[in-house]
Amino acid sequence: MILVTGGAGFIGSNFVLDWLAQSDESVINLDKLTYAGNLDNLSTIANDSRHIFVRGDIGDTALVGSLLAEYRPRAVVHFAAESHVDRSILGPAAFIETNVTGTFKLLEAVRAYWNSLPATEGSSFRFLHVSTDEVYGSLEPDAPPFTETTAYAPNSPYSASKAASDHLVRSYHHTYGLPVLTTNCSNNYGPYHFPEKLIPLILTNARAGKALPVYGDGQQVRDWLYVGDHCAAIRRVLADGRVGEVYNVGGWNEKTNLDVVRSLCTMLDLLDPKQPGMDGAVHSYAEQITFVEDRPGHDRRYAIDARKLERELGWRPAETFETGIEKTVRWYLANEEWVRNVQSGDYQNWLEKNYAGRDQRKE
Ligand code: NAD
Repeated sequence: MILVTGGAGFIGSNFVLDWLAQSDESVINLDKLTYAGNLDNLSTIANDSRHIFVRGDIGDTALVGSLLAEYRPRAVVHFAAESHVDRSILGPAAFIETNVTGTFKLLEAVRAYWNSLPATEGSSFRFLHVSTDEVYGSLEPDAPPFTETTAYAPNSPYSASKAASDHLVRSYHHTYGLPVLTTNCSNNYGPYHFPEKLIPLILTNARAGKALPVYGDGQQVRDWLYVGDHCAAIRRVLADGRVGEVYNVGGWNEKTNLDVVRSLCTMLDLLDPKQPGMDGAVHSYAEQITFVEDRPGHDRRYAIDARKLERELGWRPAETFETGIEKTVRWYLANEEWVRNVQSGDYQNWLEKNYAGRDQRKE
């Protein structure tokens, strides 16, 4: 049994689905179901007894303690976070609450549990903290990619809160000996991605005939990794990562935001062409691209050096940017209902009605 936090979010739900597809080991999934948590992501395992969903907060020490005592997981994989940079600029408090205080409280509950384990179970226990490359700050155009020893220089309240959580996790290893692992990954994309983030936003806006907003000049560079490859990396690190170590995870896919948007438009033109316009011509989705005012403090470039993970644990991304983007576009085209549900306020209302305080342990 493993305990996953934030397993109803984008990466967490992909991880839970992957995990259960590849192993028989059960998952207890603790998620607060904020606006970003979506049980629809887990509908294919709704009746799978290996998945136990508990709605709750990582900061609820009593709840986390009782889950750990009841299920005795051999590992905790910590995804739960506030994750959207724009939201952190508008309202940083929730980021401090969940990413910093929440992670601290989770660590405290896990430390107490770990201390209670017999020596053999304690030595094989792992706490894997999922983090981001944004903690390293912004790179100059010709600077080498971030390595695990790059100094932290977070620039947004989001990345600062994640940096704080990384430091707490590190300190729990150095101070208390808690067997931790940390992964710092670049931008993910793929199925079940909430349409406030660039790739799903572009796909959903394009098909709705809306503007495709690109911040500033669109020349901000990010490294992109297909979410399935990130999940595989986490599984590798959990299985064989060296305790106390940090592993960078990336796809070696540096792209400007504008190039990403153009690639999406080209793929949509191919897979979902528009109807001919008034002039009889079929127009490209790229015509909907609109440049908007840049995000304050927008980092220019992130790039990640994932060679440590490749060398030590033999992980390699299975998808190229092109194959991953094609899979993603096909998924969004095939899952219009999922998109409609997350976009409509109905989902939140339905959630409140049906899942307030839901705890599958009692069902
Ligand atoms: P997400 O916003 O899609 O999902 C976060 C999940 O955490 C949601 O299901 C939400 O309900 C849950 N949650 C939030 N606060 C909680 C709390 N207090 N208690 C319990 N659950 C809570 O995020 P994501 O994109 O899936 O990211 C997951 C993790 O991976 C985050 O830690 C993020 O920093 C990290 N990460 C994300 C990316 C990316 O590109 N999305 C890249 C690198 C690292």
